[in-house]
This record gives sequence, C-alpha cells and structure tokens, in this order.
Amino acid sequence: MHRRTFLQTTLTAGLPAASPARQAAQPPQSPQQFDAHEPLVIERPRSGKPREGQVVVAIQPHSDDIPLFAAGTVFKLMDEGAKGYLIRVTNDDMAGPGSYAETVSANARDMMAITKVLGVERTFDLNYNNHMMDNIARSELRARFIFLFRLLKADIVVTYDPWGEYEENPDHYVTSACVEAAAWMAGGAKDYPEHFAAGLSPYSVKEKYYFARFEQRVNRAVDIAPWVERKIDLNLENKAQGPAGEAGQRLRARLDSQGQRLPLLGSDDASANRNYIREFVLQRDRVAGERHGLAYAEQFHYIGPPQDHVAEYVRTNAIPR
Ligand SMILES: [Zn+2]
Repeated sequence: MHRRTFLQTTLTAGLPAASPARQAAQPPQSPQQFDAHEPLVIERPRSGKPREGQVVVAIQPHSDDIPLFAAGTVFKLMDEGAKGYLIRVTNDDMAGPGSYAETVSANARDMMAITKVLGVERTFDLNYNNHMMDNIARSELRARFIFLFRLLKADIVVTYDPWGEYEENPDHYVTSACVEAAAWMAGGAKDYPEHFAAGLSPYSVKEKYYFARFEQRVNRAVDIAPWVERKIDLNLENKAQGPAGEAGQRLRARLDSQGQRLPLLGSDDASANRNYIREFVLQRDRVAGERHGLAYAEQFHYIGPPQDHVAEYVRTNAIPR
C-alpha cells in the first residue's frame, strides 16, 4: 500500500462515527500534511554554479553504493558548484575476490579510483566490518558523522533512505539511520562540547537525498542524462564487487568459450564492460526516467530545510514601530 494511502486509511479507519458537533470542532484537514517534505519535484540540469559555496557529503556503507544509486546526482551537485566528499563506512571485507585480506585490498584499490573519478576532495574510510554494522554502537557512528558534518560543513548528504522498505543489509539501514540523526544533531549547541573546544562549530545539514534499493516514497527525480557517461566511468572502477566493473568482459569470455557472442558486448573488453553497464546496470535509471518523462533518472526521498514560518511572517508583516 502506498504510504500516503496507508496514512489516510489509518487516520480514518476504526474510529467511531463522530457526532456533527465533534466533526465541526475538528480543524480542516490540509492535504499538505500528507506531503511533508514536499511533493514530487523533477530536478533538472541547471546552468552556472548555483551550489557554489555548498558542500555535499556522499555516504556509502560499501564501495559500490554511491556509484550504483546516486553517482549522477553527486556529479550534478558538484558540477553546480558544490564541493564533494565521500565517506565509506565499512571495509568491504565480505564482498570481493580471494581471502578476507585480498577482498579488503581489492576494495581499497577500487576506492582510490572511485575517489579520483568521482572528483571528491577526499574519502574518509570508517573501517567497520562488512555486514556487521547492526553489532556496533549507533551512538558511536552517529558521533563520528556529527564530527565530520561539522568539520566539513556539510550542507547536503546523499545516502540510503532510513525509511526504505525491504532493505535486507544491516550496513545500509544502520548507516542511514545514523546519518539521519547526525544531520540535525550536528547543528546542536550542546551535543559533544569537546568538538567546540577543538575549534568546530554547530552546523546543520540542510538537504538530504535518500535513495533506496527497493520501495520508498519518492518526491525527487533527478535528471541525470548529462552525467550518464561519467556514471559509467565510475561504475567501471567497482571491480571487486557489485554488478558493474568487469562483468561485461567476463560474460563475453564465457560466451566465447561456449562458441557464442553478443553484439552488445562489442569486440574488446573495454567496450564489453562499458556496454554491459549501460544496458544492465543503468536499466534501473532508464525505468525511473520513464516514470518521469526523462531518459535517465535517479530517484530519492528528498528532505530540504524546514520552513521557518515565524521568520517568514516577520518578514512580510513587520512594520516600523
Ligand atoms: Zn551496499
């Protein structure tokens, strides 16, 4: 059931029939209360540097999360002027080739390349164990995010949706829950006073782009068509794990050994990998784009800065004393 339908059903079902007097006493229902965080917005490419002076922090539990689900949007935000940082929360020791040590090394190599191709200022590796994040103290991870958000002066975060449904990976839902809490606590004047003694100041995250692998309430579709080739460039670097990397050349070699070939995969490994990613890995973005009349889209639950109704009222109504 759609969340909005569920809420409406929940609010009206199971209540005793109200008397006319009681009905009259209730405030009129505003449809806006079901559109908290604003209704659907199609975010299109913007000219110039409208995000100059802002900082975007992309947070991924694993080396392939941002490349797969949000790279187009992160490229867009940085092209619009935002300074970018990347945080990888785990050491990816459960997803990659060979022994645990070889898996960690392979993902570390990928992360060096991803940092460069994505064009962020730097990546912070928090180095928790892969698949085990439901066993850590959330308050510790939250505190680390708060420190980083204050240090980097994070205006925008991009990560998994803390309310994404059917998410099976504890690294995804623990990371997103801690980011969500840290994003507002970073603006508090009393939380972690030792940060202020060390020279930091309270700093609230103002915009949150939350993506989900499965179901979520989507209120932002980002047109990523201009960044598709760079998104492919980035996904080529996830060689240790995930559906991209060198999957195209592996499929091409397997078919070749069986006496078959796919025209899609071209005549060399480079074109096989690139075409494979465009056809299969970015299929999700084409399907999302179709829903919104775009060639390629990344979908999010977007949360912007809260409206300050008092300041707005003062601005429009205050008169000289
Ligand atoms: Zn992941």
